[in-house]
Amino acid sequence: MVMEAYLKTVDIIYRYEARDTSARPLPMDSDAAWRRLNGGNSDFAALLDHVKDESGVQQIIPVDPRDLGLDSNVAGIPKQRPFAAVLGCSDARVPIELIFNEGPNDLFVIRVAGNGLGMEVLGSLKYAIDHLGGTLKLIVVLGHSGCGALTAAVDVFLNPGDYVAIAAMHSIRNILDRSLIVVQASANKLLSAFGPGVTRNPGYRQALIESSIITNAALAAHSIRQEFELGERREIRAVYGVYLLETREVWAPHLGTAGGIGLASAPHDVAGFAGLANAVVQSGRIASLLNPVR
Ligand SMILES: [Zn+2]
Repeated sequence: MVMEAYLKTVDIIYRYEARDTSARPLPMDSDAAWRRLNGGNSDFAALLDHVKDESGVQQIIPVDPRDLGLDSNVAGIPKQRPFAAVLGCSDARVPIELIFNEGPNDLFVIRVAGNGLGMEVLGSLKYAIDHLGGTLKLIVVLGHSGCGALTAAVDVFLNPGDYVAIAAMHSIRNILDRSLIVVQASANKLLSAFGPGVTRNPGYRQALIESSIITNAALAAHSIRQEFELGERREIRAVYGVYLLETREVWAPHLGTAGGIGLASAPHDVAGFAGLANAVVQSGRIASLLNPVR
């Protein structure tokens, strides 16, 4: 079969209707915001899944004209009213609004390599919590598969001698150093779950990278929950997940469920992280990396 047979049309359309000022109501609470992002991502992933079996696919994202300053009845610039703040990686393959089917003024997005919690990131989140509290319901930390920042941390962990080369590069170390604890924890878990032979498995490095990526996102979400005392005030919740470049879905493993598709609530405590670590090593993704299909 020739390759052209697979090349179909995909339209992702941002559409505003001049007379429609209630195109997309804002989520009323954190659960609704969570469902909307999960649903948006699942629609986005499904849209592209259908590329191969339909003649053309189309997704229309309704845009409130007021968010583009197009409502002639309202003077001045649009008011900022995002329903979720998303901390994601700078990686160009993970455009945040696109993968959640969202448009202008829906998401307060912060992107830094490795989606770590530097001071500017925390300051930006504090601004969002303090000033956008009327509409903001959710804080999301979104890692992604194959993240270069976590890959670099794993490689330094596996070959500590490589650290000498970056010893004086404080800008790089600022990103990498904070990831080393999750790499260490992930390595310990792979070792205890699969035994000492796991380090000789051809898929070990990749499994360690992917375990570290999900744990890194969960730790950042937990830290945000603690830093801003979101645990007591349920009106804003912290969640996390990993965008899979392979399937375009957001993944967060849960014990006892096979797929683990969708954002998960930030772990509350050590027991929460232990549960996550078990879910990671029992997940099909990590198993498939350690036992690659030949
Ligand atoms: Zn990345």
